[in-house]
Order: sequence, then structure tokens, then C-alpha cells
Amino acid sequence: MQSLIDQVAAESGLTPGESEVARQMVICNACRYCEGYCAVFPAMERRLEFGRGDVQFLANLCHDCGACLHACQYAPPHEFAVNVPAAMAAVRSTTYEAHAWPAAFGALYRRQGAWVAAALAGGLALFFLLGLARNGTLAGAADGRGNFYSVFPHGLMVTIFGLASLWIVLAFAIGVVRFWRGLPVRNDPVSMTAATVDAAGAALTLRYLDGGGDGCNVEDDRPTHWRRRFHHLTFYGFALCFASTSVATLYHYALGWPAPYPYLSLPVVLGTVGGVGLLIGPLGLMVLGGRRHPMQSHRAQKAMDHGFLVLLFATSLTGLLLLFLRETAAMPALLAVHLGIVLALFATLPYGKFAHAVYRVAALAKDAIEKRQPRHFDVGSEP
Ligand code: SF4
Ligand code: SF4
Repeated sequence: MQSLIDQVAAESGLTPGESEVARQMVICNACRYCEGYCAVFPAMERRLEFGRGDVQFLANLCHDCGACLHACQYAPPHEFAVNVPAAMAAVRSTTYEAHAWPAAFGALYRRQGAWVAAALAGGLALFFLLGLARNGTLAGAADGRGNFYSVFPHGLMVTIFGLASLWIVLAFAIGVVRFWRGLPVRNDPVSMTAATVDAAGAALTLRYLDGGGDGCNVEDDRPTHWRRRFHHLTFYGFALCFASTSVATLYHYALGWPAPYPYLSLPVVLGTVGGVGLLIGPLGLMVLGGRRHPMQSHRAQKAMDHGFLVLLFATSLTGLLLLFLRETAAMPALLAVHLGIVLALFATLPYGKFAHAVYRVAALAKDAIEKRQPRHFDVGSEP
């Protein structure tokens, strides 16, 4: 079976992974049993052929809920060997690499995501710790009021994280433009407002991460809603932490209220609630990931997922520890470790699991536009 896939792939210009998705989509398009599970199958039904753009679009529309594998009468050991989640996951991880900027970093992260994340976080934390030790502030600079800027000057933090944020925006902008340009194009006009509202609703509610209503399949045929819940905690935890930083920036620059802020102030409450979400969500996803049925997992995707989830968890853990120990002598060392981990998270965001969120929103936008356009099958038309 594999050599046939490789042969077809070579002739069609697709990679073996893309060719395998195309093969399975042709079978699914004849079967259509799973059309109520998610957006992938209705999008598949709008096509008769599956080129690279179609395959990458469908792969990024897939939420990896596993429902179609556990429902499939053609799943292994059947000779058709249909395993849509694994085939989609394989293509998804190559999409991140193919569109990554810089490309070499994307390839390295895809193969060794967890190790790259750990090495980067450890190296940066050590760099900050040595910097503090060298100028004698590792144990002595804390002012007892929890003022982080007495350890790392405000200007230095703004410069480092401003540059890191620019890196993220640039890397994602380049990646998404490349991805979007590779998608199939239909020029029929549609209401962009309706399509945008539809895509935003699907992204914010994590629609389609429920296996058509019953939940995801993790280890067996019993569906569960826990995977969706942990995704929600991670997603909204991240959003609340971002909101906390934004409010603190507003306080600092617009209102002239410098940190530290009291425990019940808006930035601290947002950051604490978000931080708790970022502890529980990634931990839950890692536990569920470890329990997944082996047929659902794809090795490359797993390595990338782990790197991202471990960094998110460590960011949140050190952030909350820092908050509660900010008035103690441990604050400078904890701050150095926390900053190292956050910087590693920022540097790797465009290459790992987080890229799924960005490419998925692009795929949802494409889906929202496409399903409002008339179907063109071009059957029987002259070339
Ligand atoms: S995954 Fe299996 S059951 Fe579902 S549409 Fe494809 S072939 Fe049919
Ligand atoms: S794994 Fe879930 S989201 Fe992906 S194609 Fe199957 S049913 Fe759809």
C-alpha cells in the first residue's frame, strides 16, 4: 500500500502524506457517513479532486477529535486503512514546517519540538540568572514590594519582549500569507461580514471539537467532552493572560500607574484567573494526549504538542509562584526563570501547536467563504 501511495504521490506532485489524505478523501467522498461530525466532510463534499491546496485546507480544518476514526467501518485492519485523523495530523505538521519563517527553525522544531523548547527555556533562564549573579542582584535587589523593575529595568523588559512580539507577528504573517496563497481560489462574491462572523464564532467556541455533539474520542469508542474543556481552559487562559498584560501596559503608559499592582487589581485578577486556566488546560491536554489511542497519534504532531504544552504549563506555574512570592528574597531568581521560559514560549510560538490555532482560523475563514459560494464541479466540461 505504501509504495503505491508513494508512486501516486510522485506522479501527482503531492507529498506521500498529502497523497494519503487525497486517497482517503476519495473513499470518504463515496461513503459520507461522517458528514455530521465536523466541517471537514462538508468541505470534502464540495470537491471531486484533492490537490495540495485542498489537502492542506482540509488538514487544518480538522480538530483531531477522533470521532471519524472510531465510527469508520473502513479503519484498519480493513484493507482500505482509512484513518482520517492520523493522515490529517501528518499533513498539518508539514504545513507548519512548509510555511514557517525562517524555514530551518520550523524543520528543527517539527522533529524535536519538546527538546528545542526545553533547551531554549533552560538556556535563556540560565542566561538571565547569570546576568543577575554577575551584577550582584540575584539575591539582593528585590525591594520587598514585589517590584520586578528593581531587578530588570522596565526599558530592558519592553525592548526584549517588544522584539519577541514583533518576531511572532512577522513569522505568523508570512506563514499565513503563504498558506492562504496555496489554498484553492473561487472568485464568486460572498458577504464577507457574514463569513467573518461565522469563522470567528467557530474559532471562539471551538466548534467542531465535539465530534458532532457527543465529544472527542480519546482512548476508545466512548466520547468525552474533557478534551474540549481543556482546550477552552488553555485558549481562554492564554487570552486572559494577554488581556492582563494589555491592561497593565495601559495602566503604565496611559494612566501613569506603574507596577506592582495589588492582588485585587484588574491586571492581577486577569493574570491569576488566566494562569490557573493555563495550569489546568495544558496539564489536562497532556494527560489526555498520553491516553490517546495509538492509531490516532502522529509522532511529529505529538513532539510539537508536547513542547508547546510544557512551555505553557511552566510559564503559568512560574508566573503564579512569582506573584505569590514577589515580596520574598526568591523573587529575582524566580523572575529570571519565568522570563527565560516566557521568552522561549514567544520564540517557538510560530512553529508548534500554537500555529494550529492560527492556521485553523485561516482554514475556518476559507470554509466560511467557500460554503457561501455556488458549487462548481465542472463535471463533463471541456478543459
Ligand atoms: S471516515 Fe470512514 S466512515 Fe467516515 S466518511 Fe470516511 S470512510 Fe466513511
Ligand atoms: S478527526 Fe474529528 S475533526 Fe478531524 S476529520 Fe475526523 S471528525 Fe473531523
